Amino acid sequence: MSAANNLTKPVATLTGIGAQTAHRLEKLGIRVIQDLLFHLPHRYEDRTHITPIGALTAGMSALIKGTIEFTDMLPKGRSSLICRISDGTGFISLKFFHYTASQHNLFKPGTVISCFAEARFGYAGLEMVHPEYKILSDPDQVITDSRLTPVYPLTDGLNQQLLRKAVKQALTLCIDDLADWIPASVLTQYNYPNLSEAIQTLHAPDESISVAALQNGRVPALKRLAFEELLAHHLTLRQTRHKTRAWQAPVFTANPSSSANFLNTLPFTLTGAQQRVIAEIATDFQQAHPMMRLVQGDVGSGKTVVAAYAAMLALTAGYQVAVMAPTELLAEQHFRNFSGWFENFQTQVLFLTGNIKGNARKNALQALADGSAGIIIGTHALFQEAVTFHRLGLIIIDEQHRFGVHQRMALREKGQQGSVRPHQLVMTATPIPRTLAMLQYSDLDISIIDELPPGRQPVVTSVIPNERREEVIDRIDSWVAKKKQVYWVCTLIEESEVLQCQAAEKTADYLMQALPNVRVGLIHGRMKTAEKDAIMQAFKQHTLDLLVATTVIEVGVDVPNAGLMIIENPERLGLSQRHQLRGRVGRGSDASFCLLMYQSPLSDTARHRLGVLRDSSDGFVIAEKDLELRGPGEVMGTRQTGQMQFKIADLARDLDLLDAVSQIGEQFFIDSPQAIQPLIDRWIGHATEYSEV
Ligand code: ADP
Ligand code: MG
Repeated sequence: MSAANNLTKPVATLTGIGAQTAHRLEKLGIRVIQDLLFHLPHRYEDRTHITPIGALTAGMSALIKGTIEFTDMLPKGRSSLICRISDGTGFISLKFFHYTASQHNLFKPGTVISCFAEARFGYAGLEMVHPEYKILSDPDQVITDSRLTPVYPLTDGLNQQLLRKAVKQALTLCIDDLADWIPASVLTQYNYPNLSEAIQTLHAPDESISVAALQNGRVPALKRLAFEELLAHHLTLRQTRHKTRAWQAPVFTANPSSSANFLNTLPFTLTGAQQRVIAEIATDFQQAHPMMRLVQGDVGSGKTVVAAYAAMLALTAGYQVAVMAPTELLAEQHFRNFSGWFENFQTQVLFLTGNIKGNARKNALQALADGSAGIIIGTHALFQEAVTFHRLGLIIIDEQHRFGVHQRMALREKGQQGSVRPHQLVMTATPIPRTLAMLQYSDLDISIIDELPPGRQPVVTSVIPNERREEVIDRIDSWVAKKKQVYWVCTLIEESEVLQCQAAEKTADYLMQALPNVRVGLIHGRMKTAEKDAIMQAFKQHTLDLLVATTVIEVGVDVPNAGLMIIENPERLGLSQRHQLRGRVGRGSDASFCLLMYQSPLSDTARHRLGVLRDSSDGFVIAEKDLELRGPGEVMGTRQTGQMQFKIADLARDLDLLDAVSQIGEQFFIDSPQAIQPLIDRWIGHATEYSEV
């Protein structure tokens, strides 16, 4: 049997792996022997030397050896066994729960025992709870390993021993058969070991490598594999983009009279940046393959009207448009805007959410199916249901950062008619730092609206401690007296929506008392859509002066007369999120203000972060800072990072690799396209089906 066949043989062909184990391994994405090689340890244990007990500190995992001084059974409730050992440098207690008298007999005073576990603080100094142990009949017997012990990610029914054995077999059987797809020139340039060496090293690091170095990612073998893994992820997205080129899509040609008709009804002229992006979209629509374009633009830069223009092009070509927003509130706002903008077009604009039921729903679905409705607007629920389109030509996704890569990939499959697929336009106000964009957005072309509509003034931002709340209240009073409106945003550390809403309710009560002349409204995520809608409408129509809100208003909501925003405890939010919130004000032509009212004392980092927001109004600058201060998880949002699971790469640690990844990734499509699929299979494999099925 040829070598390559070994790599692709089912794991069940290995000794000690039966059908049941194979099934469990599959849950870890391990099907064939090669998958075992790429199932890398997520940490290591160091049994290469014996640590003197006196040198142990809490939190340290170590191999120790000592003589049993005494043991005690504690009968209370569950029988526990305490066993004290010493080695002349110090002593430590071993603790075992649910022990029987006969087991007790094993631990005779004077016996020499070796243990491995994490040392913790207990009642009587340091202790190890349920350590791995060996009773040593010969006290001088060798108990150290020559290599670090790998600890693998597991799933129910599997244990470390089993995985270690399986990986060992896989290594012996086919480590030399692995094709190294990284060009030799790159290995030399970055001083990386070749693939089999790197894999070997990470499964069984020798004593020259420390656990700390592995954690910091300083080990070349680790860097090389992290690089390869990131490259595989990048290539997946890049490949999707290349595939898109082979798909067909309807061509939308601009019709001058419809364009003029649309633009003339707008109460403003488009900015240069908006016109440029519209032209980019129009060019995409001329191609016979689907557009996959991301429009990035700061809050208030006017992305919605750009999307509407794209919708107009699809509509006049006889196609339908679906608009997806992350919240109902935002979907409703789009619905109102689009309804106005398309009033003169011979089509229906529909709004569909889970709350629309019965006949209304039936009629809406019917209008979509028969094509009498040209535009449908809703939340992502829109795409989870059995909605059938007559002729879907364009999908618009607003505030894309709320949706993960996979959701976007899945959407691409929707609306497919034969070999023809709809175009896709995604919009985000969260500027992603360039380095991260290559992992998150490299399946997309990017347009940037880097200009705000004329007359906007930057939001004057100040940082105020909570103790000066009275002053803030006074300021609201005089602001409202000038017939202007205010947002008050409540934040909470807890993810719990219930708690957030309670906090907002309390704040609203307090403000009503403190400000008898101010009409106070409250909006939060637990209110019914109709209620939220009514409150938002009231605020828009200025029958409310002050709107107390949870972070539900984060995206999209537009009330130009509201020029003052108080963000309570802003230190609890990420920089980018605060920047988004702040974008709700500064939409009119008057000066507007944002007060960041923090809870003192502030940590240095928190102070620094508030300062960044005070001093900058550029979303890109803020995102770069956020990346620097909080790491990629915060910037990309937990949804995305949660979905982008790496075996070994760690974005916070391996950020420095990303530039090279995108450069070298590009080369692959030219120099070694045959390597792309094997690399993706190897790292992403069967666990994640990103692309087309
Ligand atoms: P975002 O990019 O945050 O989605 P919106 O599309 O909601 O921004 O636009 C913010 C506000 O600016 C809206 O009230 C919109 O009507 C207005 N607007 C958009 N483009 C222009 C423009 N070129 N001139 C003036 N106002 C504009
Ligand atoms: Mg918007």
